[in-house]
Amino acid sequence: MPDREHNVVLLGAPGAGKGTQAKMLSDELGVPHISTGDILRGAVAAGSELGAQAKGYMDRGELVPDELVIAIARERLAQADCAPGFVLDGFPRTVAQAEALDQVVDELGREALIVINLAVDEDEIVRRLSGRRLCRGCEGIFHIDDEGVEDGGACPNPDCDDELYQRSDDRPEAIRERLEVYRRQTQPLIDYYGERGLLVNVSGVGGPEEIAAAVLAAVRERS
Ligand code: AMP
Repeated sequence: MPDREHNVVLLGAPGAGKGTQAKMLSDELGVPHISTGDILRGAVAAGSELGAQAKGYMDRGELVPDELVIAIARERLAQADCAPGFVLDGFPRTVAQAEALDQVVDELGREALIVINLAVDEDEIVRRLSGRRLCRGCEGIFHIDDEGVEDGGACPNPDCDDELYQRSDDRPEAIRERLEVYRRQTQPLIDYYGERGLLVNVSGVGGPEEIAAAVLAAVRERS
């Protein structure tokens, strides 16, 4: 168990590999993986009031309003399992959310954030998102060009065999909108954290294990 808190934020464009890397890092550090996208998709699937408020924005590839997402993050970060740290994936996405996160970290008396920016160029992002397929069973993330992955087919994971699907916001229209939203609203966070000396850039191109090793090294160096 780490003796220092690992309060990590993963930044990066949609499709940069934040979800994959956040899962691997949270396993490695023994701290929760908190994805606002997963929480919101869960709320939509459960048919909750939050889900009903968020669904339209998500389907169009737009951001859900700050107040909603900040309230989700605030509540989640205050839970006891976040005491040794957390890996935030997909939050913050706007400067207002980053300011709110600073306030929460301060109020909870937490140590400084470690912000990792997963850098991937835009052509590669479009290729990854448009080909991304997910499994309903094991929650594995695949690509249509991977061996054994076909639309309408089953999960290539031999222990699973459940149904593969495409996220509704991984369709071309929504991808374009999400990239535009990213450029306009989320990219400024690179400067926000850079100016505060909290940012580390890690290349998001290569095998997941290789990227995970670079991410972990960057986190350990700052811990
Ligand atoms: P993700 O799984 O992180 O790509 O998020 C999927 C969608 O959920 C986004 O396109 C937004 O509509 C919404 N979402 C997730 N996190 C946030 C956030 N921090 N702020 C606003 N909207 C969010």
